[in-house]
Formats: sequence, structure tokens, C-alpha cells
Amino acid sequence: MIALAALGLLLTGAGAQAGAPSRVDVAIARGVLSATLRVSGPAVLQEPGGRRRPLRLRGELRLKPRANGLRLADLSLPSGTRLIPAPGTTVRVGADPHEGALILRLDPARTVTIVEDLPIEDYLLGVLPHEMDPDWPTEALKAQAVVARSFAYANLGRFRDQGFDLTSDTRSQVFRGLAGVNENVRTAVRQTRGEVLGWHGKLLRTYFHACCGGHTENAAEVWGGDPAKTPRPLRGVRDPWCRTAPPMRWSAYFSWQDLTAALEQKANLRGVLKSLKLGRRDPAGYLRDFVARAGGRDERVDANGLRLALGAADLKSVKIKRLKRLRRGLEFWGAGSGHGVGLCQWGARRQAEHGRSYEQILSFYFPGSTLSVVER
Ligand SMILES: [Zn+2]
Repeated sequence: MIALAALGLLLTGAGAQAGAPSRVDVAIARGVLSATLRVSGPAVLQEPGGRRRPLRLRGELRLKPRANGLRLADLSLPSGTRLIPAPGTTVRVGADPHEGALILRLDPARTVTIVEDLPIEDYLLGVLPHEMDPDWPTEALKAQAVVARSFAYANLGRFRDQGFDLTSDTRSQVFRGLAGVNENVRTAVRQTRGEVLGWHGKLLRTYFHACCGGHTENAAEVWGGDPAKTPRPLRGVRDPWCRTAPPMRWSAYFSWQDLTAALEQKANLRGVLKSLKLGRRDPAGYLRDFVARAGGRDERVDANGLRLALGAADLKSVKIKRLKRLRRGLEFWGAGSGHGVGLCQWGARRQAEHGRSYEQILSFYFPGSTLSVVER
């Protein structure tokens, strides 16, 4: 959790008028040798000293480093120049269109970084379609919007030493400008404007995952710490809603060779791997460890660590029910997808399909939390 005073934020009851929208700096290209910008209409260049001039060029413009600044097509620009699109103009960086001001920077290693400076509410439009299917029910998307907004506020300034707040990849939240934004996404962000989750007057650090497999996880089981000291909203709840979700039951096969390679990364394994068994389980049903047998002795291997070594997309979760020994490897049978902490997206979808509101969905997955409005 973040102390709100440190962020200069106040929380008030939901329904209060949100103050001036807060802004966020997101790195949309980092340390690249060059970038292509496609400018659709009028825009202005503003240099760090304040000098402004219209950008008369349109279409595909190459951005490259030069001796002590940048080159955009045939223009020389000082590092830190802002490219400010006029209303209605978009600037494509790679495949994705952007409407916010783009700060063009020369890095010390003579590469280029592009940072988009935009209101947090616009940032959320560019996050939502990539973290949840934009065609899912609006109430599920609204719950996701509140979780994504809470995450953004809780992580403002996380990369300040690198000159921006958030990355545009999974280390923060995936952000792709206006790509994939539809009316459903706009509605979800607009109808939850400024709303975040709080707990005991502080901003709650929120998480989400695809499917919990029947019980959400205590945050400390995944990220360390004492599970008994986890804030109440992040301790996990029994979830009957995702029972019919596609990721509820899965199996995955790994060869002995792949398992040995992953175990060598994660454990001090000596000798040939003879067997791998299920170890201890936490109260939410997630496996804490495996027992690997090699070189005549047993060793406990952290389950989340082994999942990452095998590939989190291949081993969907550590809620593993059984292992089946096959001739050349092991078949894992499990439930759910993701780390299991916080919002269960498939459960949220099913709740929305049953007519439950985003407030009900959020208080189900984050019990004891309050829905609050951020004000500056
Ligand atoms: Zn669930």
C-alpha cells in the first residue's frame, strides 16, 4: 500500500466530484536505435526552452539520434522536445496510434526513448483492451478499470529514475495508445472516472489474473511476507463464479528434459531427476512446493519459481491437482490461470453476466475495501 499523503492524493466517497485529472508519463519506446512516427494531421513541436513551432511535415517521419540531440526527418531537435498533436491528429509509433504529447529523448547510450504524457483516464483507455477482452460485459470492464486505475496510482513514479512513471509492457500494464479501444472500453473508463480501491484510508495495491480456479490467493503466498499480515482485501476468497470458465481445468505436458532444465535453474539439483511429486499446499489450494528426487535425495522446489522456469503461459497456474507419469515426461493437471491474487477476470465476467454490478464484483474480490475517488 501507498500512503496517500506521499502521492498528494485524497480519497473521498464514491460519487464525489473528481478533481483535475492527474497525468502519467508512459514510455512507449525505450532505448531504440530509431523509430518511425506517422503523423496524421497538424501538430506542434515544443522545445525544452519553450520555443514552439508548427510541425509542417506529415506522414512517415524517421526519428534518429544525432550528435547532441535528435533528428526527425530533416529537422534537428534538442532532446526533450515535445511533439504535441492537435485535437483529431494521431501519431502512430510502430503500429499503435497515440493522441497525447510525445516527449522525444536522446538517451545517454545514444538511443531514443519516446514518453507519452497523458491524463490517467486516457492512459486507462489504452490499457483496458489489452488486459481484458474489450467485448466482455461492461460491468466486468468497469471492475477492471478500477483495478487498473488503482494500480496506476499506486505505481506512479516507479521508473522516475529513468524519466517516466510506467512502462508500456507487462512490468507495469500493457498500454497501446488507442489500439483496440471500443465504445465498451470508453464507457467503462468514463463511468468509473477517478475511482480507485482504498483500505483504511490508503490506496490499495491491486492485482488481477485470468482465473483463480475456485479460490483467490493470499498476496503474501505469491510475493512473500506473512500471510496473516496481508491486508484483508488481498487475503483471498472462495470463488464459485469462475467454475464454468474455460481455464478452470487444464493439463500440460513437460518432458523430463524440460523439467530437468527448469529444475537446474531453480534448485541445487545433483544427478538425474528420478521423480517429481506434489509438495505442500496453501489454504487457497495453490501448491507451495514440489519434491524433486535426484542423486538419491529429495529436495523441495518452490512452485511459483518452477512455474516461471517452465514458462508461465505453459504451466498456467500452481493450483496443480495431480501429476501423471508418462514414458518421457509428466502431465500436470491443474485449475485456473495466473497467480490468483485479487480480481479473478473470468469470475468477474460471470458475475456481470448474472447482472451483478462492478461495485458488487469489486467488494467480492477485495472484501473490506472501499471504492473511493482520487482528488488532487
Ligand atoms: Zn475465480
